[in-house]
Amino acid sequence: MSIEKYIRDIQDFPKPGIVFKDITPLLADAEASKACLELLINGLKDKKIDKVVGAESRGFFFATLLAYRLGAGFVPVRKPKKLPFTTITATYELEYGTDTLEMHTDAIKKGDRVLIHDDVLATGGTAKAMCELVERLGGEIVQCNFLMELTFLNGREKIKQYDIFSPLKY
Ligand code: IMP
Repeated sequence: MSIEKYIRDIQDFPKPGIVFKDITPLLADAEASKACLELLINGLKDKKIDKVVGAESRGFFFATLLAYRLGAGFVPVRKPKKLPFTTITATYELEYGTDTLEMHTDAIKKGDRVLIHDDVLATGGTAKAMCELVERLGGEIVQCNFLMELTFLNGREKIKQYDIFSPLKY
């Protein structure tokens, strides 16, 4: 089954000049979501993943499904001031300004084998910050896993020391 047709382009969202990849049609279709999960999980079942770390908010959808299927825990990485317990933070550069992400200090145990998941790899800033948070708590990154990659933004370069998987490339 081809899942590409369930991802639609939205012109000028959230800002003029940006073409946003919208996965809500994919999420709304049971067969397409199932096919997508099978693609993402391919090769991971024997990797002994302890935690799947998902990025707010579109990364949460498949990160929780992956965690369930892999028998792993799920860990949310969120925008500042959303998580209730003590957090560690990572700040990264955007085109204009910076952004910050947070994770609970007890979310990863030393030696945990971690799968990083997000829907889109764009410039790589989000993924790099997630990896930094996990490693500061002693976790080991097994793979950085994305549904799609916007190759023209060259996000791979920022996380090139890790195994990167993304079935769809634009
Ligand atoms: P990066 O930090 O530049 O790699 O951006 C990745 C983050 O931005 C991910 O959390 C994505 O959810 C979000 N993102 C960037 N571009 C798109 C898009 O076209 N569709 C959906 N999310 C996007």
